[in-house]
Amino acid sequence: MINIALFGPPGAGKGTQSKLLIEKYNLFYISTGDLLRKEIASETKLGIEAKSIIASGELVSDEIIVQIIEKTIKGNQGYRGFLFDGFPRTYVQAYILEGLMIKLNTSLNCLISLEIDEEESVMRLLERGKKSGRLDDNEKVIRNRLKEYDKKTLPVLQFYKEKGIYHAIRGDQSLEEVNNEICDILLEESRNSLVNILLFGFPGCGRGSQGMELAEKYGLEYVSTGKMLAEEIAQNTEIGQRVLTLYEQGDLVPDEIVVQLIEKKIENSKDVRGFIFKGYPRTLVQSYILDGILKKHHSSITEIIEIEVPMLELISRLDTRSKTDRCMPYDSSTERIVKRLQEHKNKTVPVIEKYQQLHGVVKIDGTGTFDEVSERLSNQVEKLLSKS
Ligand code: AMP
Repeated sequence: MINIALFGPPGAGKGTQSKLLIEKYNLFYISTGDLLRKEIASETKLGIEAKSIIASGELVSDEIIVQIIEKTIKGNQGYRGFLFDGFPRTYVQAYILEGLMIKLNTSLNCLISLEIDEEESVMRLLERGKKSGRLDDNEKVIRNRLKEYDKKTLPVLQFYKEKGIYHAIRGDQSLEEVNNEICDILLEESRNSLVNILLFGFPGCGRGSQGMELAEKYGLEYVSTGKMLAEEIAQNTEIGQRVLTLYEQGDLVPDEIVVQLIEKKIENSKDVRGFIFKGYPRTLVQSYILDGILKKHHSSITEIIEIEVPMLELISRLDTRSKTDRCMPYDSSTERIVKRLQEHKNKTVPVIEKYQQLHGVVKIDGTGTFDEVSERLSNQVEKLLSKS
């Protein structure tokens, strides 16, 4: 989930920006001001209580706010998250929001503050008042609302600064500029909730075919460094030419090239739920590099899965493959197959052992048909996605 609070004085543009964001990110919009106006229009008990307070430009009581928010959240689940506009407006409401989020088993990801100065705010609201028909959009009440904002609402920022989720944006820029800045913050935030799976197993265990299927099924990006290198060669890029020379000389591709490709992949994958890494990291050094890359993108490893297949079956599978048109250049003889298996044991098994100690590794039985293994893996991935 991604939950956001838009903050700022009346007239900062929270409502306008909200409309754009809820559509783009499938968020449920909660504007306490709108909810209160609905209660007033329907002449409910809450509405009658709130009417004169709103007309004077003061804030209604926290009790009323809790009641209307609880009622609204209950009936509207199934969105990617919530967008709060005009809430929290007091320090106490910041605690209330924490409680509401805990109840929903989620948390507020960020508070984005649109900052404009007082005179700009008055000018915008007077302009809006010509069309909005809102009783509180007149100069006397506007000045009172701003006073309430300075006294009761501004201190809320401190709460979120301490939590480390406060972001400020200049609200006097164009609508598009403000929106772009908000989207940049949300992109960074959504990276925090990416599901990153490392798929391990000896060559021949089915990591490639299973990894691709899982990626496609669950909207994850498949990151196979071998495949990315092959694509660079096929497209004859500068990196591709360097890699080809290295392959021809029988040399390994240096880490700095692979890092660039992974970085590029992450940069270009804006709307994914996460990544499945196959064939990376292969060495302990690469495991540190991957931690660094993910950290740079405000993300981290979610789960490590190892597909287990007995050694004799692996050799038999690779031998069978070497006799078909799916034969890889590195599987073309028994000697090469054994060398690859040994290479995995020497270099990559220590990486899995490190992860075993640090995070724990989920072992999946890789024997049986493709569909049987796929079902075991899918169950695991579904568990992860439902948690995230
Ligand atoms: P708004 O539409 O957000 O500008 O809100 C209009 C008026 O509704 C405010 O001036 C307050 O009187 C009241 N109001 C809206 N949200 C809250 C809140 N979270 N806490 C207290 N009063 C609120």
